Amino acid sequence: LTLRPSRQVSSPIKVSFEFFPPRTPEMEATLWASIQRLAPLNPQFVSVTYGAGGSTRERTHATVSRIVKDTHLKPAAHLTCVAATKEEVDEVVRSYWDAGVRHVVALRGDPVAGIGTAYEPHPGGYRQTCDLVAGIKAIGDFEVSVSAYPEKHPEAPSLEADIDALQAKVDCGADRAITQFFFDNDHYFRYLDRVRARGIDIPIVPGIVPVQNFKQTANFATKTGASVPDWLAARFEGLDNDVETRKLVAAAVAAEQVIDLVDRGVSEIHFYTMNRADLVYAICHLLGLRDQSVKVAA
Ligand code: FAD
Repeated sequence: LTLRPSRQVSSPIKVSFEFFPPRTPEMEATLWASIQRLAPLNPQFVSVTYGAGGSTRERTHATVSRIVKDTHLKPAAHLTCVAATKEEVDEVVRSYWDAGVRHVVALRGDPVAGIGTAYEPHPGGYRQTCDLVAGIKAIGDFEVSVSAYPEKHPEAPSLEADIDALQAKVDCGADRAITQFFFDNDHYFRYLDRVRARGIDIPIVPGIVPVQNFKQTANFATKTGASVPDWLAARFEGLDNDVETRKLVAAAVAAEQVIDLVDRGVSEIHFYTMNRADLVYAICHLLGLRDQSVKVAA
């Protein structure tokens, strides 16, 4: 990895961080340590995921509410259409409004029976993400982010059909799309060209996953339709039992990816943090972000 002087960033890059709601007190401590570490970088927002099938409804709400109460950060609550009536989903949205949350990441969600099975909308629920976006906008003046898939959602018959779905979400009021993670930046830029050619002009923010555990990430990528290039596998080859080296390689790989994105004109990046701060903090530092809480003496 070479950080050429031309790669020094002049205007600050906007970043956002994604977390998942903790299941245990230990995980909760890790999450809050990470939030505290990353907060001084002044992210645009921090988002908290919603477990498959709505399984983390209370925990997502509790985490997001605590972010509102205990930090200066702007939280975004993920919400899906899965396994709930419109009334139930609307109630969750209203409870976010009442808690002071003004940003929702609206998603369809995965089929209840798991990724790879057929998606069945709940009979009384929102059928598609675009309907959920419209429902959220009808409840309050929320900022709404949605997903986008540079390598196509696995269920979409074609990339064009997937872009139709993005278009429908934009038509219903989506303000921003955050992409599924990808490793080859050309996928992102080709997708961006196609989306812009369709007249979709909302920000399409690249979602970046620092690879802490290659095997796990590669497994997950297969399920979500993200390709894992051979060169990436080669970089982690032989490191299954070498956590320290893996971490250094992961930082280098992610730094290389985000610096290339920025060199090619990207100004907003969303990080899938996996509730860990160290790699993401280092990568943000390379992007020119500094601890805003540190005041340099005159
Ligand atoms: P959509 O983009 O709405 O589309 C899903 C599929 O349906 C596509 O094949 C699309 O082409 C098709 N489709 C959509 N609308 C239409 C339409 N109007 N007509 C015909 N076909 C249509 N999952 C969680 O459970 N919790 C989370 O917190 C979560 N956060 C995520 C955050 C990001 C940034 C991303 C990229 C994904 C996230 N997911 C989350 C995963 C997501 O729920 C799954 O990928 C799910 O399978 C699809 O949901 P979606 O909103 O991305 O789908």
